[in-house]
Amino acid sequence: MDRIPMSSPDLTDAELAAVTQVLRTPHLSIGPQIEVFERAMAAYVGAQYAIAVNSGTSGLHLCVIAAGVGEGDLVITPPFSFIASANVILYERAIPVFVDIDPQTLNIDPALVAQAVNDLTRGGKAAQKWLPPAIRTQSAIRNLKAILPVDAFGQPADYDPIREAADRHDLVIIEDACEAIGAEYKGRKAGTLGDVGVFAFYPNKQMTTGEGGMIVTNREDWDALFRSLRNQGRDVFNGWLNHSRLGYNYRMDEMSAALGVAQLRRIEELLTKRERVAGWYNERLKDLAGVQIPHIASTTTRMSWFVYVIRLSPEIDRNRVMAALEKRGIPSRPYFTPIHLQPFYRERFGYQKGDFPVTESVARSTLALPFSGVMTEEQVDCVCEALRAVI
Ligand SMILES: *Cc1c(COP(=O)(O)O)cnc(C)c1O
Repeated sequence: MDRIPMSSPDLTDAELAAVTQVLRTPHLSIGPQIEVFERAMAAYVGAQYAIAVNSGTSGLHLCVIAAGVGEGDLVITPPFSFIASANVILYERAIPVFVDIDPQTLNIDPALVAQAVNDLTRGGKAAQKWLPPAIRTQSAIRNLKAILPVDAFGQPADYDPIREAADRHDLVIIEDACEAIGAEYKGRKAGTLGDVGVFAFYPNKQMTTGEGGMIVTNREDWDALFRSLRNQGRDVFNGWLNHSRLGYNYRMDEMSAALGVAQLRRIEELLTKRERVAGWYNERLKDLAGVQIPHIASTTTRMSWFVYVIRLSPEIDRNRVMAALEKRGIPSRPYFTPIHLQPFYRERFGYQKGDFPVTESVARSTLALPFSGVMTEEQVDCVCEALRAVI
């Protein structure tokens, strides 16, 4: 059997035809496909506006700008995530305030968010303990502006209590739904759970455009702002060369947009196939000693399977399991590695081991197994047999 890849895009002749069709036209950027893609995405999630950008990271960056986050401002976010969700805060010279996760759902802990919001808006000593060690002693006045929860692994964070805390202090909620397209929280679609949400379409995501992302929101003023910011700060309604703000080239090209349109048409099929593969894994691993299968919260009315991540019992050495699987030709990944322990974050903010104990203990024990909608049951068997033998 060929080596099982960590992930694979799910592409058909429809995607091939869609991209080829664009190449037969002169419109390779700022053409009709981006509008079709945006309208289809807005309809899919039930949002008023959808704005396509060239990556999930670009989309999150523009949300941080729209939230009015500037130099020295504070944004609450989990340390258990892909590094982009914290990096976008740094792009605006703001400060990520990490809040630990719930050990079951692996999403930001809503009770801790409420405490952090209370303490940070009160200021003084109570606020200090939430700040990164390296800036704790600085006396600058810092304003909490936003909360940026992450829907980790395709499971929405617990937004109702987060919304309560945010509304008490007029904070913007930016939903990082980059891993969660199609997921549902209490029947509401991921992407629409905050004031603004972002999806990502890198090839390992549930649907892909190669590189790409999409911002969704109900705020009309932000729709116009995002369109301007992604296109060098040009005024949307005025002259072609009127730049009213600092902008970026975060545009999505037409080939990517056409690919996105074709993938979005198949989204139910894509999600269902991934659900089926996750089900095969669950069946085989639910009774395996030392292995914990993914936990689905009661608030998650639909899981959107992005990755399949198991947790190993503390007595099992995760890195040895990875190495032993690799010997058998099975790739696997530690996922996520805590953001606060990345060398750059340690250096800049003075974080150390022990600062976020839940994130760290979870991160030590998590293992992402090969996963995609195109995996066969035989491949899942092969991974599970190898895992059983290794453990
Ligand atoms: C994929 C992802 C992003 C954005 O990724 P891009 O590669 O920039 O599209 C952001 N946050 C999370 C949690 C992600 O998984």
